[in-house]
Amino acid sequence: MKVETLTGYEFEILNRNLAILPVGSVERHGNHLPLGTDTLIPEFISEKIAERLNCLILPPVWYGSCKAMRNFLGTFDIPDEVLYKYLKCIMVEAHRNGMKLLVVINGHGGNSVPIAMAAREAARETDISILVVDWWKDLGLEALSKFTSTGHAGEDETSAMLAVNGKLVKMDLAKSHPVQYPSFKLYSKRLDERLYEIALTGDATKADKEKGEYLLNAVVNDLIKLIEEAKRLLAISKQGGFYEYKL
Ligand SMILES: [Zn+2]
Repeated sequence: MKVETLTGYEFEILNRNLAILPVGSVERHGNHLPLGTDTLIPEFISEKIAERLNCLILPPVWYGSCKAMRNFLGTFDIPDEVLYKYLKCIMVEAHRNGMKLLVVINGHGGNSVPIAMAAREAARETDISILVVDWWKDLGLEALSKFTSTGHAGEDETSAMLAVNGKLVKMDLAKSHPVQYPSFKLYSKRLDERLYEIALTGDATKADKEKGEYLLNAVVNDLIKLIEEAKRLLAISKQGGFYEYKL
């Protein structure tokens, strides 16, 4: 259930223990994917999870930290320190509204560090527990291994977007731009400019809807398992016994 569609009374009487927060970006994805791709996909995953677990979906965080694609029109880049504080406020407010386990489904690489900073602090300062996933690299890995390549607006993300809403994808503008990512952490504007020359990495021309459905189905199944595992871990006290923590 999407929180923004509920009345206050409905929200009050519902079980609010488990909620999902989709976090994305408004960012250039080649010429063929919508600017909201990084939010639309986590929103779709959230809806599938909520159907299965009957939980709440908080309104998504649309704007993200987008350094690498900043030079392209259509990218809105939010500074990390602003995003981290904003996310932390949402997490603390989720706790104040009765949520015990918050699942953050992130759709954009630049958000990973601000989300981690926010989650660490919110979990320290309140009693909320926060499960964070980067959907494209933490989930559905077996399905992902069947793709010929991965990348920003590439075969995997384009396939996923075709499965979410094909009307928003302009496959006639899809391109192939194979790049070699370094196997280590190298922070460099120079490198970013080369990698993201056309705001696309990998081969978007190989994307199709069936591959996207297959990937997102695996992502949803994997995330359900993680949520169940998190619930199990949270029910175990230091002594190894169980205490009252129903989710
Ligand atoms: Zn993306």
